[in-house]
Amino acid sequence: MSKKWRLTDRTRTLLTLELAIVLPATALMGFSIWNLKHIQRDKAIEAAIQRDFSYVLKIAEKKSWERAIDLVTPVRKQFPEVDDSSKIKARLEGILLEHPEYSYAALYDKKNNLLVSRVQPGHDHDAVFCGHTQEDINILATWVPLESPGMSKSLRMMEEKGEPPIEFYGGWTVRENQRAYWSIAYFIPPGVPKDRVTLGVVAFDEDYLRKTFLPAMMKDVLTGKSSVLKADANPPVMMIHPAKESTPWLASANWDGAKPEAERKLEYVFPDLMLAIKYQGTTVADIGTKFLRYNYIVLAALSMVMIGGIWLTYRNVSREMNLARLKSDFVANVSHELRTPLALIRLYAETLELGRLTAKEKYQEYFRIIREESERLTALINNILDFSRIEAGRKEYEFQETNLAELVHSTLDSYRFQIQQNGFAFEENISGDIPPVIVDREAIARSLLNLVNNALKYSKEQKFIGVSLYRSNSSVNLEVRDRGIGISANEQEKIFEKFYRCGDPLVHNVKGSGLGLSLVRHIARAHGGDVLVESAPEKGSKFTIALPLVPPSQTGNAVA
Ligand code: ADP
Repeated sequence: MSKKWRLTDRTRTLLTLELAIVLPATALMGFSIWNLKHIQRDKAIEAAIQRDFSYVLKIAEKKSWERAIDLVTPVRKQFPEVDDSSKIKARLEGILLEHPEYSYAALYDKKNNLLVSRVQPGHDHDAVFCGHTQEDINILATWVPLESPGMSKSLRMMEEKGEPPIEFYGGWTVRENQRAYWSIAYFIPPGVPKDRVTLGVVAFDEDYLRKTFLPAMMKDVLTGKSSVLKADANPPVMMIHPAKESTPWLASANWDGAKPEAERKLEYVFPDLMLAIKYQGTTVADIGTKFLRYNYIVLAALSMVMIGGIWLTYRNVSREMNLARLKSDFVANVSHELRTPLALIRLYAETLELGRLTAKEKYQEYFRIIREESERLTALINNILDFSRIEAGRKEYEFQETNLAELVHSTLDSYRFQIQQNGFAFEENISGDIPPVIVDREAIARSLLNLVNNALKYSKEQKFIGVSLYRSNSSVNLEVRDRGIGISANEQEKIFEKFYRCGDPLVHNVKGSGLGLSLVRHIARAHGGDVLVESAPEKGSKFTIALPLVPPSQTGNAVA
């Protein structure tokens, strides 16, 4: 019945452990792994980074436009009036001198079919530059008359919408087998009547664009406050290349030459220029893999901690359950141990009471049995009381100078008869050189009785008990030997634990509470000494209480 109850109790505890800890923990781990795999499949990290990249490129395009507008707006205001033809050239020249970032400036008027232009005077001595710029102007002169009505109309509409009436155009051309980028801004100069088609044009100097304007814009985007990219481990890098070619035309510092992660055309300001971005020295896929690996490692570490925790909990719970089982065994054993002497005492007392005994020796025997059984009871109850005091931390010892030889001898005296009655050969060796030792008399006597009692209980064929008291270096040793069933090596440490009883079936046929040796050890340690066992199964055991000659410092509470 009790076994069944224990089983269900154990199953319930394990079930609780499983349901409350193991299941949620496993579910959590499983979910995290699934989640990570899911992230990998969806490439969510890559997608997030791509989104950031696209956003940065969009900002770059907007910034290019704003900066170009800021550059051109004051120039537009300085443009000459078309009817004041004598002054146009000089004014254009003045503008160019003030703004070296332009390679030429031009004014076109449809009504007078007039195109006045001026090449950057700062480059007057550079024949190649002047030649190329003049070529550009000649090309401009071919298409502007045709396109100007449309251009003018679109600018007017912008003006009406309150936007700056400035537009940009550009593209690639080949000069002496080398690609070159040209780019212009056009606008309606101030004061031009609404029905008239007049355009101002300024061309950006290619060197200025490549070495100053665009690098400054990239720097601003990459390091400015608006940048959404974290630059710590792998800084983002940018480059610009022709829309139809992937070789960089210009690149930010640290561009690593690998394939860009995201690209965008600088449509509105610099047509045919492609802005590209990536992280320096790594790819987005790499970052994704690294992130995943990092997460897997963290997950693995956390799982280990969790498994460790579960294992610890499981160990503690099983330990507690074992202890509970030991305690219930203990109660059963102790009740049995109490009942036997009580039954004997009652039986013999009743017989005496009835007065049926005739022989005088019988009376003596009955009285002796009653005394012995009550002694056994007292010893058992003392053990239990001591144990409960120790458990509650209330055990106190009364240390006093003691003649150990006398104590051991007198303790054994009261037991000698019983030992011999049980058919045991008994040997007592008390050395003559034992100095006085400071001990608790009662506790030491009780330890000795526990050991002798065990020797009695756990002997089968070879019935022998030897007790020795001798001096050894700095301690006095009290030794109890038997030739009984012995204790296997792996149980020799455990026998000193409370409630522990050896697994040997022989032991279970003998009554016991599993408290005796734990008390002996507690007492020995409280005296600053210890108890040791030497034993071999079937050969016998030797228990030695070693008590130091130097007394323990405390005289009150025991050490645990
Ligand atoms: P118990 O009340 O069971 O005797 P103890 O604490 O005195 O409790 O002993 C614990 C266990 O150690 C015993 O159950 C027994 O298995 C083993 N033991 C103790 N003394 C001896 C001995 N002299 N010979 C063999 N086994 C012993």
